[in-house]
Amino acid sequence: MPYDNPYLNFSATENAFLSFLAGCSAVNDNREKINENDIIRAYKTHYKLLTTDISKLVDKLWKEKSEKENNGYLVCEKCNSYYKLQPGESPDDFTGNCECGGKLKYYDDIGWLLKC
Ligand SMILES: [Zn+2]
Repeated sequence: MPYDNPYLNFSATENAFLSFLAGCSAVNDNREKINENDIIRAYKTHYKLLTTDISKLVDKLWKEKSEKENNGYLVCEKCNSYYKLQPGESPDDFTGNCECGGKLKYYDDIGWLLKC
């Protein structure tokens, strides 16, 4: 029984978590029983999770998500006010002019606009 290992001083929660990870590893290999490799893999995964900067990872995922959902922007040529297109909207849906009377122009990215 790997769980009787005297070198393991993990709390019950961590042990349950490690068993879960080991179980996932076994399932990934289409096995119903956990073997030593699964335990090792579980520890490696656990260690990776402990050393991962979670907030950084979340930031990265959010950034990727928002970049993927970027539908572009409509920018007024006259007053530089802009509208971010929502998912599912197309610039063709907006044929009108800006409130100021200026023409709306489509841009993929408005980093240039936000910088100034
Ligand atoms: Zn305008």
